[in-house]
Order: sequence, then structure tokens, then C-alpha cells
Amino acid sequence: MADTVQALPRKVSSRAESNGIQNVQNFTNGKFVDSSATDFFPVMNPSVGKQIAKVPLSRALEVNEAVRAAQAALPSWSAAPIKERAQVFFRYKTLLEKYSQDLAEQIHEENGKVIGEAVAEVEKSIEVTEFACSMPQLAVGEILEVSKGVECRIDRNPVGVVASITPFNFPLMVPNWTIPNALVLGNTMILKPSQLVPISATRIAELLKEAGLPDGVFNIVHGAQEAVEAICDHPGIQALTFVGSTKVAKIVYKRGTSQFKRALCLGGAKNHLIVLPDAHEAMAASNIAASMSGCAGQRCMAASAMVAVGQVDHIIKLLCEETRKIVPGKNLGAVISKEAKERIERYITEAEQQGAKVLVDGRGAKVEGKENGYYVGPTIIDHVQPEMRIAQEEVFGPVLSIMRAKTVDDAIKIENASPYGNAASVFTQSGGMARYIMERASAGMIGVNIGVPVPREPFSFGGWNESKFGAGDITGKSSIEFFTKLKKTTTKWNPESKVNWMS
Ligand code: NAD
Repeated sequence: MADTVQALPRKVSSRAESNGIQNVQNFTNGKFVDSSATDFFPVMNPSVGKQIAKVPLSRALEVNEAVRAAQAALPSWSAAPIKERAQVFFRYKTLLEKYSQDLAEQIHEENGKVIGEAVAEVEKSIEVTEFACSMPQLAVGEILEVSKGVECRIDRNPVGVVASITPFNFPLMVPNWTIPNALVLGNTMILKPSQLVPISATRIAELLKEAGLPDGVFNIVHGAQEAVEAICDHPGIQALTFVGSTKVAKIVYKRGTSQFKRALCLGGAKNHLIVLPDAHEAMAASNIAASMSGCAGQRCMAASAMVAVGQVDHIIKLLCEETRKIVPGKNLGAVISKEAKERIERYITEAEQQGAKVLVDGRGAKVEGKENGYYVGPTIIDHVQPEMRIAQEEVFGPVLSIMRAKTVDDAIKIENASPYGNAASVFTQSGGMARYIMERASAGMIGVNIGVPVPREPFSFGGWNESKFGAGDITGKSSIEFFTKLKKTTTKWNPESKVNWMS
């Protein structure tokens, strides 16, 4: 991170209205423009429950305009040498560092996570951008003389115009999962950010412009369902990525692929932590508490279910002590909306009514001076049964359900029964047990003594089962396959060889 913190230049992205509510604009062909949509969505500051902006609910018309801009920019951008395209992202990375504190404050304001978590989100955005800068080394083609005087070569070409549809929980990082990789590889893009957190996306557009990205290479269409449907249907978009809930991931994957688009749609999660009696007590307790409560539990990698194998009461006791140190408004941010707070609290109450035991209760949390903020305190619920709704569905709040299992195989059965498959972790000091569980867990990302097992670049990110639809992963080396298509050329310049294609 940069030593000197600088405020972002806020000259182009928005017009403040007289009542102090920011008017968020689309970004098309290098300019911030008003959407012709007449419907707007209120953007709230979740920490205080106050409206800060309004975002247009754009429709097919605005998607068409963005696609036209992206199509017009494609020939020259894709023809530029990859090293030249990477240079833009070296500059973009420097700008992310330069404005890191200001970006973190923006994330905090519209998403509600605490500043430390928002700074970590900026740092992760920098890391994925650094990875994209290494694409010239990674995206090299292949060449081989396959028979006398005959050569086959493979080049990677961009897919074309791609779209990226993103969720509310990481307003800067998830857009940056796709933007640097897709653009360095020569594609042009339309971003449709979550209508709940649209402002960080406009900051991305400002920084890309400052970094020298040509107009039209990156565009933003703000909106919700209608804009996404127009993206799925538009024949001028060749590929789309989606990150969000499983329900919408399925809809978008189906609709996008039915229009013959390449699609990769990441969905929700229900991540299980299997805790064995021999786990390192302090390490397990602090990791589990951090995993279930970080970003107010609104991470697709958050621990949501703990499967306690045998006698682990000593760890649960310590976990409760650690959890009580997590204080809303201090080291625990707000959840995204009033509806989210009510939904999370309903899950807790329902589990309690069904016989589960609430060990640490975060319902009704209030923060002094922020009484209208959407806070839910960290919550631990023991003796949850696998058939309860709280054990099966994604809660997406700072809530950990503990289920008891007699054996490791019973614990694996519980984990395997989940329709999701984003992440799973095991806490143990036995290498053999860790390996046994690692091999049997039905999830794309596995942690051993790690509560949030996010693979770091160059490793790729992506779950299994109903946590991901489409082949490959969204980041890391795997993203190169998604954002490029292969051109295979066979060449013969030797006039002496026979006409036969083999020679
Ligand atoms: P969401 O599915 O409600 O929204 C995601 C995007 O889809 C937004 O841009 C939204 O405007 C759009 N959208 C919403 N409803 C739509 C509809 N009916 N048709 C078309 N588009 C629609 O998700 P969210 O609440 O913003 O984000 C939280 C979810 O995202 C959680 O389920 C979380 O697990 C998941 N998530 C997954 C990952 C992952 O890597 N697997 C990462 C982050 C978040």
C-alpha cells in the first residue's frame, strides 16, 4: 500500500443533488452519462441507515449503447500488443495504491464493512491486478513442427465483448476479479455492478481512465434484473461472468448460454468447518470466529456451519469467548440492508424455536450514535440439526451453526449433503485426518486449519456444485481459458514436400 494517502479526484462520476443524494451515472465510451431510465434505486449507507445516492435502473437501451461502445473499441484494443495493454494495468495498480484509503472509505460507506476489511479488499484488488500484469508471460501460445516442414501454432485471441455482473459484498474486489484479466487479454467489457453498491464501480472507471485505458474498452451499465436480462440476450456480447446468489446464477447461466454465450456463473455458499478434538484450540477458535464474522458474515467463503466431531466442547467454549470480543460498530460492520438484518435474525429465532441452543446471541444489536444502522451481532448456535433450515440455507450474516457428529465419516456426510460446494475446512493437528477429509469434502476450495481458504494468485477461485455453473474458474490462470479463444494455424512453406497434409 502507498505511504501517502490521497483523495480520489471526484470530478467526473457523479452530480450531487441539492439534497446531498449522489446521482450515479452510467459510464459509456469513456464518459459518465445519465441513463434514460426513470426508475432509480436508493443506495444506502448501511452503518447509519441513510440514503447516500440513487442509481438508475437501466434497461436494454443503455445496454445497447454500452455494447456499441465496446464493439467500436474492440478492433484497436485487441490489436494492441499484450505488453501495451498490460502497461495500462501497471498504471491502474499504482492508482489503486495511491487512492487506497479513499477507496476503502468508499467501500465502507456503501457496503458497511469496517475500514480494515475495506482496506483488505483494496489490497486484494491490487493483487489480482498484479496478476493481470503478468499475462504477457502466461498467455503465450504454442508452436511445433508436426511433420517435415509443417508447423502447427496456437495463438490466444480475445473472446470479444464480455460482460461482468457483480454482487454487493465486494464492491471493488469482485469487479476486479474480471476487469484486469479480461482487458489485458484483449477483450472489451461491460460491467453491471450491484445496484446496492454502485459507487465503487464508478471509482474503477475513473482510475482506468486516469491510467490511460482507451474510451469504450470499459463501460458500466447500472441497474438490476432488466439490465442483466438485456446483457444475457444481447447478441453482441460473446461471454459473461456472474457472481451472486445461486438462484440468480442459475437464471443468468441458463439465459446467457441459451443465447450461445460463454458463461461462468458463481453462486452462493454454505461452507462447513469440520473440527476434530485434536485441533489447536486457540488457532481453531480465533480462525473460526474470524471466518464466521468477517465482513459481517457476508462472504461467499464465510464459515456458516461447524461440524463438531466427538468431544470438542473445550474449543466451542473458547470460540464463544473469542466471539464475544467481536463488537458491532467496532470490529464488526453492518449487514447490507434492513431486510438482510431481519432475514438473518429470523433464521436465528427459527432455529431456537426448533430446539437449537443460542450460545452467543447477536439479535437486536445496537451501536451508539448509529441506531439506524443494520447491525447483527456475532451469533453462535449449538445443537443445530442438519435438517433445519439454518443448516441448509445460506444465511449470509455473522451466524455460525454448530452440528454435532460422532465420527469423521458422519461429519463428511453432513458436508457432502449440502447442495453448495464453495469451501470446506478442517481443523486438526493430524495430517492423515486432514488428508482424509480434504479428499472427501465436496467443495472447490479446501482449508486445513484455515477459516477462509481463498486461493491467492496465481491459483484460481471457484467452487463446485451449486456454487458455480460453467467450466473453469474466474480468477488466476484458469481465467485465461475463459477470456481467450484459441486459434490453431497449420503452415507449410516447403515446396518440396508432398501434397499430402501429413508431410
Ligand atoms: P444477487 O444474486 O442478489 O445479485 C447479484 C447480481 O445479480 C446483482 O448485480 C443484481 O443486480 C443481479 N440480479 C439480482 N436479481 C436478479 C434477477 N432476478 N435477474 C437478473 N439479475 C439479477 O446477489 P447479492 O445479494 O448481490 O450477493 C450475495 C450473494 O453472492 C451470496 O449468495 C454470495 O454467496 C454470493 N457470492 C458468491 C461469490 C462466489 O465467488 N461464489 C462471491 C461473492 C458473492
